[in-house]
Amino acid sequence: MRSFSFRLNVVIISILVVTLLGMGIYVAGLIQKVYTETLSNRLTKEAALVSTFIQTEQNVTHLPELQSMIQQFAQAEDSRITIIEKSGKVLADSEADPSKMENHSDRPEVIEAMHNQEGHAVRFSHTLNQEMVYVAHVFTDPNGNIKGVVRVALSTSQIEKFIHKLWLSLVMGLFATLLINAIVGLFVSRHITKPIAEITSVARKITEKNYGSRVKGKMVGEIGQLSSAINFMAASLESQMFEIEENQEKLSRVLNNMVSGVILIGESRRILLANSAIEDLLGYSEKELIGKLHIEAGLNYGLSQLIDRCFQTGGQIREEVHMYYPKERIIDCNLAPYTTERGEVKGVVTVLHDISAIRRLEKMRSEFVANVSHELRTPITSIKGFAETLLDGAAEDKEVLHNFLEIIFNESERLNRLVNDILDLSRIEQKKVPLHLELINLYDLVKEISYNLIEKINRKNIEMELPEELPIVLEADRDRLHQVIVNLVDNAISYTPDGGKVSINIIETGEKIQLEVKDTGLGIPLKDRERIFERFYRVDKGRSRESGGTGLGLAIVKHLVESHHGKIEVESAEGKGSTFRVSLPKRLSL
Ligand code: ADP
Repeated sequence: MRSFSFRLNVVIISILVVTLLGMGIYVAGLIQKVYTETLSNRLTKEAALVSTFIQTEQNVTHLPELQSMIQQFAQAEDSRITIIEKSGKVLADSEADPSKMENHSDRPEVIEAMHNQEGHAVRFSHTLNQEMVYVAHVFTDPNGNIKGVVRVALSTSQIEKFIHKLWLSLVMGLFATLLINAIVGLFVSRHITKPIAEITSVARKITEKNYGSRVKGKMVGEIGQLSSAINFMAASLESQMFEIEENQEKLSRVLNNMVSGVILIGESRRILLANSAIEDLLGYSEKELIGKLHIEAGLNYGLSQLIDRCFQTGGQIREEVHMYYPKERIIDCNLAPYTTERGEVKGVVTVLHDISAIRRLEKMRSEFVANVSHELRTPITSIKGFAETLLDGAAEDKEVLHNFLEIIFNESERLNRLVNDILDLSRIEQKKVPLHLELINLYDLVKEISYNLIEKINRKNIEMELPEELPIVLEADRDRLHQVIVNLVDNAISYTPDGGKVSINIIETGEKIQLEVKDTGLGIPLKDRERIFERFYRVDKGRSRESGGTGLGLAIVKHLVESHHGKIEVESAEGKGSTFRVSLPKRLSL
């Protein structure tokens, strides 16, 4: 596309050419007309003058005199003068020999003059062989009788020369005017188009998202108004875009920091937006999802169906969906449509929460309640049964009474232990009791515990190996650490047959202390090793109950170790023994 300046110049120059050409043609025509008229008048006057002169001089008969007079006149007037007799005979001519000239009575100007005193003609002169303008005027004798005609002629080439000159100067004038106008026009249009070009470039930059660009030059008039309007528009766009970008950033920050997954599906059922949490939930990144149809994007089938249903019904949906990829999960899906003013569904916002942990916890809680009831029922049933038997008369036999009371006592002891363990576990799990940290000499604590268990050790004839006496100190809650060691050592004694060996070891490694409880007992089968830290989990129920276990000991140990920022591991070989390793930090920075 040609530039505005070029087009403006073309328009200006075209107008100028047409105007000047029109004016030139008109003026030239006018001048030509005036000139011809003036010339004709002049020739008429000359003819009249010459005829008057001839009339007064009365020397028409003296032809040589007349000829020389005519030639003088013609020279003075720069024209051709011919004196023609009434009969048509040429008496004198300023440019030709009259004796050789043919009869002129048939000349139109002569004929006209004979009738009207005056005659005019423009025609080709055979005498001079060129086109001439003729004006004829009669001359009379003193009585007023027409004696002949004085004819004054001028070559049209003279007039044409003048007209040519006129046109030449007109065309030159036109060119000069055009040149000046073109230069001035170029300057003026540049002056107008330069700011327009600047405004255009700013507008283009704005469309290329360069909102900071402004029209800088000082402009006046309408262009000035346009440039300030553009600058105002740019400033307003800049602030609006800043606001939009800020809102977008806020939105993406909120979306990407959400634990819940968010997917936005557009009218065409393509995914428009997905946050980063989605990758963890669905196994596909935002980039893999955006732009795809939700059915093709690899979303869970159940979720895809919910999306379609939300589009169809236009109502909110909340449902749980089981997912098996990337891992097994229960997802709470919340779908809400967003609609146009006319209520047409334009898209669907899907918010996904992983509720697997909640569901697992709920399951665990109900299992726990079932387990607790089950565990409590056994000693209660036993106590109730033996008490009923005693009441039914068995109490009279002293030996039976003693045996039954002993059973009732043992069962109530067991019940007491169970209730205490449950309460302990619940307190530890709820983290209600804060840790009372102090510096503890681990060897002293281990020694104290083995003294407390001496009766059981002796009863089972267990060889007890204590660690080397080293001043190893760590920061911990004494009662809880005591409980950890008691549970582990007690288990080791319980699950080691008579005559076995239990050894306790303390190893100091950098900032950590490792406590090792090793026995030569029954060991734990591989399949149970992972689960022995679960509540009420027992490898062999009968054996555990025999040893007075509640199935909660290791669950309590695990919680207590974790509350001390430690770790517990087990190593075992079936029939050979087990090693429980507790690793604890020396200092606890809580
Ligand atoms: P319990 O009160 O039954 O001992 P725990 O939670 O302390 O419950 O232990 C869970 C189960 O782990 C026990 O029932 C037992 O089968 C197994 N277990 C624990 N310690 C040992 C060990 N030192 N040797 C063999 N098995 C053990």
